[in-house]
Amino acid sequence: MSALLEARSLSAGYHGTAVVHELDLRVEPGEVVLLLGANGAGKTTTMHTLAGGLPSLGGEILIEGEPVRGPAHRRCRKQVGFVTEERMIFGSMSVEDNLKLGRGGLGPALELMPELEKFLRRKAGLLSGGEQQMLALGRALAAGPRVLLADELSFGLAPLIVQRLLEVVRKAADDGLGALLVEQHVRQAMTIADRIYVLRRGRVILQGTADEMRGRLSEIEDSYLSG
Ligand code: ATP
Repeated sequence: MSALLEARSLSAGYHGTAVVHELDLRVEPGEVVLLLGANGAGKTTTMHTLAGGLPSLGGEILIEGEPVRGPAHRRCRKQVGFVTEERMIFGSMSVEDNLKLGRGGLGPALELMPELEKFLRRKAGLLSGGEQQMLALGRALAAGPRVLLADELSFGLAPLIVQRLLEVVRKAADDGLGALLVEQHVRQAMTIADRIYVLRRGRVILQGTADEMRGRLSEIEDSYLSG
């Protein structure tokens, strides 16, 4: 069976110079996959390339088995939700209008994130950082993507909100979504993850199930995540 999202020997970078080299990565339905690595390891470059914002420099990206180039490109990209630390909401519009603008609409977003209900009439720009990120995630998931790419979803947020955002991602995965996360909150993210890739200098140097990695977390943090 095809993976929801697959990178095959993907190279990515800027102005023709690769900073991510021959990356092989898969996300299956129902999986939360973490992409870890020290600053500058290539996580954001990988996420932007998978999301279609940066052209790849080699290799292939497949979504549900279809290479995302040529005529399949647009259709495939619709299957992908992308959330970053820049919250991608319209600050001068109400929460309600932000949700209505999303492809899934108001109802599904509130079902996923009921705590947004009490903010519906508020300008999105007046919400706290955590609430804004709930809005961004609720809107992205309500659109019904097959794959969610989340780059630093919980950057700078309080632990309780981080936990809530991760819980929502876990639940969406339990319902069949595939999620690829870049997270600074490694220990918290590990609690919801199924598999992990560790990048160093643009290459995968370690991968395995979250269960395998949990016992090695201190070693992984010391050896690979500290720069
Ligand atoms: P961080 O955790 O610091 O965000 P990262 O793992 O996401 O790190 P990237 O941001 O993907 O890493 O950066 C990988 C490499 O690409 C780094 O050497 C970085 O300097 C370089 N890079 C990032 N953005 C650009 C850009 N717009 N132009 C040129 N080089 C860039």
